[in-house]
Amino acid sequence: MLDDELKAILACPACKGDLRFEETRIICPACRKAYPIRDGIPVMLIGEATDWTPPPGAAGGPSR
Ligand SMILES: [Zn+2]
Repeated sequence: MLDDELKAILACPACKGDLRFEETRIICPACRKAYPIRDGIPVMLIGEATDWTPPPGAAGGPSR
């Protein structure tokens, strides 16, 4: 798990927006991108990001 200090300085390289931290990846809901965490190091590179879709029914997601 990443420590809070590291989380505080991280931002999305594309939009500088808020991130969602998971165990194995970091998600930018605004860009709908997921950035990988490799060996505990966040890879905040647009070229390394994979597409991410908000889970249906999640807060802030599209209404059903
Ligand atoms: Zn972003």
